[in-house]
Amino acid sequence: MKFGGTSVGSAERMRVAARLAADERKKRPVAVVVSAMSKITDLLLDTMRHAEAGDLAGLETNLATLRVRHEDACRALLPETRHATVIANIQHLVEEFERIVRGMAMLGERPPRSVDEAVAIGERLSAVLLAEHLNAEGTPAAAVNAREVVVTDAVFGNASPLMEPTREKARASLLPLLGQGSMPIVTGFNGATADGRPTTLGRGGSDFSASILAAALDAAELWIWTDVDGIMSADPRLVPDAEVLQEITYAEAAELAYAGAKVLHPRTLAPLAERKIPVWSKNSFAPEKPGTKIVPAVAPGIGMRAVASMKNVALVALEPASPELNGVQVMARALDAVARANVEVLLVSSSSYRQNFCFLVRQEELERTVAALESVLALELAHHYLHPIQVDQNVGLLTAVGEGMQGKAGLAGRIFTAISRVQVNVIAIAQGSSELTIAVVVRRDGLENAVRAVHAECGLGLRPPVPVFTFPMPRRKE
Ligand code: ADP
Ligand code: ASP
Ligand code: MG
Repeated sequence: MKFGGTSVGSAERMRVAARLAADERKKRPVAVVVSAMSKITDLLLDTMRHAEAGDLAGLETNLATLRVRHEDACRALLPETRHATVIANIQHLVEEFERIVRGMAMLGERPPRSVDEAVAIGERLSAVLLAEHLNAEGTPAAAVNAREVVVTDAVFGNASPLMEPTREKARASLLPLLGQGSMPIVTGFNGATADGRPTTLGRGGSDFSASILAAALDAAELWIWTDVDGIMSADPRLVPDAEVLQEITYAEAAELAYAGAKVLHPRTLAPLAERKIPVWSKNSFAPEKPGTKIVPAVAPGIGMRAVASMKNVALVALEPASPELNGVQVMARALDAVARANVEVLLVSSSSYRQNFCFLVRQEELERTVAALESVLALELAHHYLHPIQVDQNVGLLTAVGEGMQGKAGLAGRIFTAISRVQVNVIAIAQGSSELTIAVVVRRDGLENAVRAVHAECGLGLRPPVPVFTFPMPRRKE
């Protein structure tokens, strides 16, 4: 079971999380992965930015917030006899964080490796609290730092797991705990390289931690507890009538996650699909609801299932200025450089006549992208064989997802009609690279409207109730 930030966001929420895990524990062994309490990861990252900028007052304020939030939760959650020990433990972890950020303040710099070490403190704090509470309630539990379990490469801030060593470590450390009837409460989000350097798996990475461990332990099921009723036909914050999908395939869920549906970290399903471990997305605020089951296949012919969107993106365009330049070669070199800079390309679109092409990246990767392009195409740019690199940040990405969408005649037409009806400009399109998505780049300020329009036009969401007309009946004379 994995509990997200809101599902462990307060003493009260931790109590619910513990009960959900302990109830299941009565039937079969349970391992738990926890996120940091809601907003704590943001707070930790913000503290590091204050440190780098030399803003010691901001740093102190954040440290106090961090301490108070966890100490308050501890007092509200645990019996008084445990307060002194656990608060000392919390203070110890906060001091560990403080040591790293003071180092950053001194250097005026945030080395990625230190960021990863420091940001994992959020998960370590919540793991301690949840494990302590379970123990106090009579369910033996032990907090485990995933740094000792999940082995990754050295891409700090966005590391990938090395599954074989992780499997060995996870089985060696977690199976004995489970065997003794103890519930491991493992920190989500973090890991370490084989030589022990701390890493993290990217924002929202606790889902990924849970799937890595589920695969490593050959789990029967993975339950991801969050704050909505499951995976929905759209982000309910954007589309109020979005509906919960009862079932969705691994491929659909993965495409949705990559297309920006925050409910799952994009890489969550990779370790599970090949082992066919079923995944449930469930609401810890309404555990009685069925949630969404992620499965290998659903009934054919369902067509479009959901629409996702991403707003912090940028479109980068390259166009040859001279016919002597081979556009395909430019594209190959550009994409190669971008890949080597560790940038993820979200969509590519090209024109064969003008030989120009554009691609979409995340805004936080834009600087790296442009630097990589400027370096690899320096000569062409200097000699004006290429037009200057164009960057458009006023864009957003809308993606429609569903297995068997390609088989639905007219679906693409309906999507574009819906977008144009709300007067939103379409800037680029990609269809066909994945059989289950149609991706459209639109003007940023029209993105939300476009999502709602496509969702409604394609018949997704809760249907409004059929109106019941009542006619005045002639009164029967007594
Ligand atoms: P957690 O902290 O539990 O990991 P997240 O905030 O990361 O939770 O993800 C849950 C949120 O994802 C929901 O509150 C919802 O706003 C958002 N979301 C975006 N797209 C979808 C979708 N298609 N289905 C469900 N939730 C979605
Ligand atoms: N706490 C981390 C984050 O906020 C990981 C997670 O919650 O999944 O990104
Ligand atoms: Mg999340």
